[in-house]
Amino acid sequence: MRMVDLIIKKRDGHELSDEEIKFWIDGYVKGEIPDYQSSAMTMAILFQGMNKREVSTLTDCMEHSGEVLDLSNLKGVKVDKHSTGGVGDKTSLVLGPMVAACGATVAKLSGRGLGHTGGTLDKLESIPGMSIAIEGKRFEDQVNRIGLAIAGQTAHLVPADKKMYALRDVTGTVESIPLIAASVMSKKLASGCDAILLDVTVGEGAFMKDMEHARELASIMVEIGNRLGRNTVAVLSDMSEPLGYAVGNALEVKEAIEALHGRGPKDLMELCYTAGSIMLVQARCAKDMEEGRKKLEEAVSSGAAFEKFLLMIEAQGGDTSYILHPEKFEVASRSIPVFASEEGYVHKLDALAIGVSSMKLGGGRETLEDTIDMSAGIVLNKKIGDKVEKGELLCTAYTNKKHIDDVIADIKAAFVIKEEFIEEQPVIREIIR
Ligand code: URA
Repeated sequence: MRMVDLIIKKRDGHELSDEEIKFWIDGYVKGEIPDYQSSAMTMAILFQGMNKREVSTLTDCMEHSGEVLDLSNLKGVKVDKHSTGGVGDKTSLVLGPMVAACGATVAKLSGRGLGHTGGTLDKLESIPGMSIAIEGKRFEDQVNRIGLAIAGQTAHLVPADKKMYALRDVTGTVESIPLIAASVMSKKLASGCDAILLDVTVGEGAFMKDMEHARELASIMVEIGNRLGRNTVAVLSDMSEPLGYAVGNALEVKEAIEALHGRGPKDLMELCYTAGSIMLVQARCAKDMEEGRKKLEEAVSSGAAFEKFLLMIEAQGGDTSYILHPEKFEVASRSIPVFASEEGYVHKLDALAIGVSSMKLGGGRETLEDTIDMSAGIVLNKKIGDKVEKGELLCTAYTNKKHIDDVIADIKAAFVIKEEFIEEQPVIREIIR
C-alpha cells in the first residue's frame, strides 16, 4: 500500500477501507508516514468528508494507537466530559466538583488551549503547585479516594491524536467534522470511562459555526459512543459570545471559584446545571434531570461542591490558600478599561475576536512552544442583550505587555451596539441523545 494512493483516493471523493485507514494511522504514529502526507490526507478529508464507517474506523485506530486506560477497578460509574472548545469555557472546573459532590465518579482527562480556545489544564496550572501530570495508580487512587481527578493526556495515550491535532492546528484542518469526532471520541474511549457527556459548542467562538454542523458533529459522536457501550449524550451550547465574564487562565479560575460558591454568571451556571444533571443520571446518581439539578443546587449551596474542588486541588499538589483567598492570584501589571462610544444594546459580542485578543494579551499560545501569562485576559462587563450607556465600561483588558493598542481596538470592535432591544440568548441550544 502507498500513502500517496490513499491521499489521491480520498481527494477524488472515494471511501477508504478499514485497512487503508489503519495503514495511515499506524504508519503516521510510527513515523513511517511523514507529516506532509498526513497533512494532505487531513485536507482531503476536510473537503471530501468521511462516511460513518470511516469515522468509526478512524476513531478505533486512533484510540488504540497507544495505551488504553482500564478504570474497571474504580468504584461506581465513571463519567467524563469533553467540550469541543470555546472562549471563557471554565465549565470543567465547576462541573467536575459539582457532579463529584453528588456522588458520581469523575475521572477526567483534559487538554491544553491553542489559538483562540482555552484549555482546562492551563487554567488549573495557574494555581501554584498544581500538577496535572498524574498517571496510572496515582490517578486511580485519587479518583477512588475523593471521586474526582482532572489530569492531562499522557504521551502514551492516543499518540495519534496528539500528533495529528498539532498538525491540523497549523494546516487549517481543525474544522472537519470527521476529524473532530475521531479526535474527541478516541480520547474519551481511551480514557476508560463508562459514560461521556459532550459539550458541543456552536457559534463564532466555536469550531462549529452553525447548528446544522454542530448537530451533525454531536450525532456522529453520540452514535460512536453508544455503539461502543458508553452512555453518550451531547449538549449543544452557545459560543457566539464568551461563556461567563472572565477570559484568561487565572481570571477564569477566580470566576469558577465564584461559581462553586453559587455566585457564577447565569450562562455558566445554567450550562453546569444542565450538563451536570445529565451526568448524574448517566452515573445513576439521579433518577432524572430534575432530581439531578436539585442535588447539584444543594451541593453548591451547602458548600460541598467547593469542598470537593479544594480536595482535588490539594490532592494534586495545588496551593489551596489561592482557592480560599482568590485575591492572592497575581494581577497583571496593566489593566485597560474599554468604554462604549454609543448607547444601545449589545447585539453581538464576537467570541472569536475576544479569544484571539486574550491570546494576544498573553493569555494563550500562538504556537505550541509559547508560554502563557496566567494573569492576562479580559473581564467583560457587558454581554449580549445588556443595555449600555455611552461611556460605560464594556470590559477590562489585563496584560503585562506594552504595545497592545491594536488589540484594544479589536476588543472594542468585538462589541456591536445597536439601538433596538435584543433578548439575551439561551446557553443551551439542544440536547442530543
Ligand atoms: N477538541 C478536540 O479534542 N479535538 C478536536 O479536533 C477539536 C476539539
